[in-house]
Amino acid sequence: MSFRNLELDETLLKALDTQGYSKPTPIQQQAIPIVLSGKDLLGVAQTGTGKTAAFGLPILQLLNNKNHSRRGIKALILTPTRELAIQIDESLAAYGQHTSLRHSVIFGGVSQHTQVQKLKRGVDILVATPGRLLDLMNQGFIDLKTLEIFVLDEADRMLDMGFIHDVKKVIKSIPAKRQTLFFSATMPEEIQNLAGMMLKNPVKVEV
Ligand code: AMP
Repeated sequence: MSFRNLELDETLLKALDTQGYSKPTPIQQQAIPIVLSGKDLLGVAQTGTGKTAAFGLPILQLLNNKNHSRRGIKALILTPTRELAIQIDESLAAYGQHTSLRHSVIFGGVSQHTQVQKLKRGVDILVATPGRLLDLMNQGFIDLKTLEIFVLDEADRMLDMGFIHDVKKVIKSIPAKRQTLFFSATMPEEIQNLAGMMLKNPVKVEV
């Protein structure tokens, strides 16, 4: 099994080559075709399994193959910590280096100025932690009505860190018609309920 078997575009294959990735990890093998087909995904996987590329690569491909003259955020990746947010944004930069897609990252604990400036220039894929996202949405700097793909990363950690209420607020303000990718390392009852609320006919992938 190679990345080429997963029907990824040359622009992405070239970037993966530069990264030195020779073959897809199990979560990538299973998740990439599902995401490319437009289906919702429930991914039970931990950090370290390659899950960032499992959602990042197909999102880049789906958005890159669309006419993105339309302004606005098309994909939102919600993750619990600043460190994870930065890592995901760096991965998008690496995997999407030969695309013209614009990505950006926002998180709390730092001045919002630079983040707002970048948002104003236009962003296709936004990586965010929940608190700063809601804050900038409330100030009118972020509008999610153009959103097509929503990723909830590390859902169980969101719960542990007390972010579930914030996550539910975000879900209420994004379009109902969207593709949703839900990732969690564990599936306790509260997380199962959240997944049930957010996903439509999801395909489950467990590694
Ligand atoms: P993640 O689980 O997304 O945090 O990825 C864990 C690490 O594996 C990161 O350092 C990635 O750069 C790396 N990685 C992801 N996919 C692959 C792959 N197919 N081949 C080699 N390394 C990979």
